[in-house]
Amino acid sequence: MIIQLKPQVTPQQVDRLRDILDQKKFTTKDVNTQKGSYLIAIGKGDFDIRSIGFMEGVADIHVVSDNYKLVSAKWKVDPSEVDLGDGVNIKQGGLALMAGPCSIEGEEQINNTVEHLKEAGIRIMRGGVYKPRSSPYSFRGMGIEGLKLWHEIAQRNGIKIISEVMQVSQIEEMHDYVDIFQVGARNTQNYNLLDELGKVDKPVLIKRGISGTIDELLYSAEYVFSGGNENLLLCERGIRTYEKASRNTFDINAIPILKAKSHLPVISDPSHGIGIRDHVPAIAMASVLAGADGVIYETHQDPRKAFSDGQQTLNFRQSSQLANNLRRVMKMRKEML
Ligand code: PEP
Ligand code: MN
Repeated sequence: MIIQLKPQVTPQQVDRLRDILDQKKFTTKDVNTQKGSYLIAIGKGDFDIRSIGFMEGVADIHVVSDNYKLVSAKWKVDPSEVDLGDGVNIKQGGLALMAGPCSIEGEEQINNTVEHLKEAGIRIMRGGVYKPRSSPYSFRGMGIEGLKLWHEIAQRNGIKIISEVMQVSQIEEMHDYVDIFQVGARNTQNYNLLDELGKVDKPVLIKRGISGTIDELLYSAEYVFSGGNENLLLCERGIRTYEKASRNTFDINAIPILKAKSHLPVISDPSHGIGIRDHVPAIAMASVLAGADGVIYETHQDPRKAFSDGQQTLNFRQSSQLANNLRRVMKMRKEML
C-alpha cells in the first residue's frame, strides 16, 4: 500500500498513521523524494483503507499488489518525466536521444563527438569513464579526470552527460560532472549502489541485468525510488540467451511490458542489445515503434579505432541518419497509435 502524503504533512501526523498501521501488523517505510512524501505499508492483514483515508496529512492511498510499488503504473497513472534543465527532458511522447562513444578517450574525441551531436540535434552525450570490462587487461576508462574534461566541453556546448557509476565511492566524485548516472548491466543488482543512488539529486538510468528479468529491473528501480530518488529511467539493453549470433538478445517485448508495468520512462540501448553495427539502426527503430521514450546508442568518429565496443559503434554519418530516421519513426508511431 502506498500512502501519498500531503506536502505539508507533520511528523506527528505521520506517527499517528504509523501507529495505526503498526497495530494492524503492517511494516512501514518513509520515503521522501524531491517530488513527494510517501509512507509504504507492507502487510497482509485485513485493512479497510477508509479508516486512514480521511486522516490529516493523507493525500491519497493506493493498494498495489505488486512487490515493487512506487515504480508501478498501478498507482501513478500519469507517466513520469525526467527534466534535465535547459529544455532537455525525457518523457512519454518525446524522443530522448543519447549518443556518444562507449568510452571517453580524450579531448579530441570529446570535441568531435560534441560537434557531431550539435549538428544532429542530440542534447545528451553518453560515454564511460569507468568501464566494466570482461577482461582486466582491456581499457578501463579515463576516470574522473576524463569526466572533468568532458564536462567542461559539454557544458560549454549545452550538451548533457550520462555516464556509468560502478561503485558507491564514485558517486560523490562524479556528482557535479554528470546529468544522469548510469547503472550498468553488471551492477543492476548491486543493492548498496542502488541505495546510495537513492540519496542523490540527479537522475539515474538503470540498465537491465545481463540475465535479469523485467521484474528484477523494476525491483532495482524500486530500490532507488524508495531510497528517495524518483528521477529514474529504465533501460532495455539485451539479455544473455543461448543465441550466439548476436552479442545479446535485445528483448523487444520488454519495451511495451515495462511501459505497461511502470510509469517510468523506458530507454532502449540497441548497441549493446545486438552488438553488431549494421543492425543497430533496425533495432533502434523497432524499439521506438515498440514504445521506447528514448534511445541510447554508441557513436564514434572512427569506430574501428574506438577503445571499446567499436564493432557495435556507428560512425557520425550513420548516427546522423539514425537520429533523423528515429524522429520519422516516432512521428509514424504517433500517427498510428
Ligand atoms: C555501456 O553502456 O557502455 C555498457 C557497459 O553497457 P552495459 O552495462 O549495458 O553492458
Ligand atoms: Mn559499450
